[in-house]
Amino acid sequence: MGVWWIRRDARLADNPALLAAQEDGPAAAVFAWSRGVHLWSGRRRAHLARVLWSLREDTGGAVGVRRGDPADVVLAVAREHDARVVFAAREASPAGIRAQDAVAAALASDGRELRLVGTPYAVAPGRVVKTDGTEYKVFTPFSHAWREHGWRIPAPAADPTAFLPTTSDVSLDQEAARGDADDPLAARHEFREARIREAWASYVETGLDRYAAERDRPDLDSVSHLSVPLAYGQIHPRTVLAATGAIRGEAARTLESELAWREFHADVLFRHPQAQRASLTAVMPDDAWAAGPEADAAFMAWRDGRTGFPLVDAGMRQLAATGTMHNRVRMVVASFLVKDLHLPWQRGAEHFRRALLDYDHAQNQLNWQWVAGTGRDAAPFFRIFNPTAQADRFDPDRDYVRRWVSEVDTPAYPTPMLDHAAEREVALADLRRGKAGRAGR
Ligand SMILES: Cc1cc2nc3c(=O)[nH]c(=O)nc-3n(C[C@H](O)[C@H](O)[C@H](O)COP(=O)(O)OP(=O)(O)OC[C@H]3O[C@@H](n4cnc5c(N)ncnc54)[C@H](O)[C@@H]3O)c2cc1C
Repeated sequence: MGVWWIRRDARLADNPALLAAQEDGPAAAVFAWSRGVHLWSGRRRAHLARVLWSLREDTGGAVGVRRGDPADVVLAVAREHDARVVFAAREASPAGIRAQDAVAAALASDGRELRLVGTPYAVAPGRVVKTDGTEYKVFTPFSHAWREHGWRIPAPAADPTAFLPTTSDVSLDQEAARGDADDPLAARHEFREARIREAWASYVETGLDRYAAERDRPDLDSVSHLSVPLAYGQIHPRTVLAATGAIRGEAARTLESELAWREFHADVLFRHPQAQRASLTAVMPDDAWAAGPEADAAFMAWRDGRTGFPLVDAGMRQLAATGTMHNRVRMVVASFLVKDLHLPWQRGAEHFRRALLDYDHAQNQLNWQWVAGTGRDAAPFFRIFNPTAQADRFDPDRDYVRRWVSEVDTPAYPTPMLDHAAEREVALADLRRGKAGRAGR
């Protein structure tokens, strides 16, 4: 008899940890609704509650959701079911590793075992290495080695009837309602596993062929929208790669390459856990960053979509309303925060943590570092996005901007809060000072 500890893998399909738990017959399943979840934004908590609600529906009500630290919750459920082994997917982020170490220790002290099976990635972080065993620091060779390493075909779906009922002390209805009340304007996203797989299959049929040509266009709906289900583990990247692998052409290769970025960032965070807060490369002098009331006011204008730069404001309003933002626009708003407002990337990343529904620690922190020029194989700092030129190029008919900033062409819309050309020069001068300072050390 096994227990499945549910982590970022709330799905029945292609789930090796769950299959391992069910190998000798029905398994118990539990999710630990820990204190950490209470630090999440209302929209994320509400969505998580719906995801778990749906998983419970799919298993005939058997899945347990318990309040408490994973170490206490998982041990209690293992004892209740007299299970010697608990199965779970291996995490690679600092918090994920801390949690699995604590659960393993609690189980071991009671004569039980945590067995980690699979990860939320096609290739486990840390696995792709050069021939001398060291890490790839540059994305393109990493992605070639990643493809060469390859991945298994998707695992068969688990038996939804092979679950032992586990009691819950968290009301998912109530948690969803509370989360919604904290965040009343947030749009709902699909939370049922079967619907998510259907949406992906239909995207493969009817949308994917436009991906390579149109993925940078926020005005067109040409992207996969996989980031939310990937963040909660409702679909595994192996399932996605199995579908794209069967398709010829540039679109499928491009989508695979974007998934390779996801794996690259997870690999970087696994190897360099400090990257969750600290810049991997020092680029700017410490005194380059704006602080004080004016900087706070600038931050709030950015956060609320009132900068007077339509593409930046549209992105920030899309984020506030939906919990997601188009990738091209994420890059533009992030560049604006760091290089026009001269605010540290960590401040923007922290706001994204609260606002994103697809929040993923490795992807968020490392993408912010990519834009700030401080990450692994990042965009060089001197590549400063011009928010007006980006809008002209990627939203040529202004459909995206008009959708999110309805007052854009009226007197109600603010004038630009700064002169981009002038701020660009300030950022570049800071960059030169930073270089000179490091050279002189
Ligand atoms: C500042 C910043 C913060 C970000 N924060 C997050 C985050 O918290 N969570 C998150 O999932 N993504 C994050 N991204 C990456 C990217 O913007 C989103 O994954 C993407 O917009 C999601 O839309 P989609 O699923 O339709 O993407 P598609 O274009 O359809 O891509 C398919 C999948 O590929 C992966 N992918 C695509 N672009 C990237 C990328 N740049 N880096 C890593 N993986 C990528 C994602 O898993 C995505 O779901 C961030 C990007 C930036 C610039």
